[in-house]
Amino acid sequence: MTFMTQELLQIHSELQVQHDAPGAVIRVENLHKIYDLGEVQIHALRGVSLTIHPGEFVAIMGASGSGKSTFMNIIGCLDRPTRGAYWLEGQDVSKLSKIELAHIRNRKIGFVFQSFNLLARTSALENVELPLIYATQPHEERLKRAQEALRIVGLEGREDHYPSQLSGGQQQRVAIARALVNNPTILLADEPTGNLDSRKSIEIMEIFQRLNREKGLTIMLVTHEPDIARFARRTVVFSDGKVRRDAPVEGMADAAQVLAGLPLVVENQSEEVGA
Ligand code: ADP
Ligand code: MG
Repeated sequence: MTFMTQELLQIHSELQVQHDAPGAVIRVENLHKIYDLGEVQIHALRGVSLTIHPGEFVAIMGASGSGKSTFMNIIGCLDRPTRGAYWLEGQDVSKLSKIELAHIRNRKIGFVFQSFNLLARTSALENVELPLIYATQPHEERLKRAQEALRIVGLEGREDHYPSQLSGGQQQRVAIARALVNNPTILLADEPTGNLDSRKSIEIMEIFQRLNREKGLTIMLVTHEPDIARFARRTVVFSDGKVRRDAPVEGMADAAQVLAGLPLVVENQSEEVGA
């Protein structure tokens, strides 16, 4: 065998690894998660298979306890499956160590939680800069990107506010900016509107729809509210740790349009705080 053919074979086999999930951002195959509590074992995921392509906007639905957060935590590289395979952009990440997962998480995943999870004594801007500090970006670049991320979520001028000086909706927008600042491969959000009233929830969905449409950002969001899921393009319904239904959203709603139809509220700083 010549050197040339050897090299071609090598490239070919590398391509095959990549092609295991051609073009997919996420592919999981027969995923199981068992929480071992000593006395009892909880079988939270029971064979989940799913593929998500670039530019998708998927709502994960299902009753409480059906395995949604367990699934999201594995997809977000916060936890590992007990069995089954997970390819993130073609790379098998199901058997990586915790440290390797942390590296991948920092580079590829943007996470938004129900409870915002901002640092309290840290300004909006510094909260958004944090993932870039871990990524050892130079200070100028960090500042520029954090400001831009805050602008995208409509918080220009609030850079120096502390979380306690922002409403719940604004805090969640800071959390979204923080999730975006590293240009993640996928944005994961677990009940991001769970602590917000309906207008503020729709405002969050407007940001997600804009990011998905204009920047092609791949988004997977957990919600138990059908009114929120209708802003996504595809719904996956979990029950008892399995996917029960997976279908495109018929007549997807437009959050910007819904907001335009709501009665106008005068933005007042003191009224917003704590809302
Ligand atoms: P959902 O997000 O759909 O409400 P979860 O993924 O949080 O569901 O939970 C699925 C099942 O796994 C539930 O029975 C829950 O009690 C259990 N569970 C979730 N997290 C843990 C954990 N860290 N340890 C033990 N059991 C857990
Ligand atoms: Mg949950």
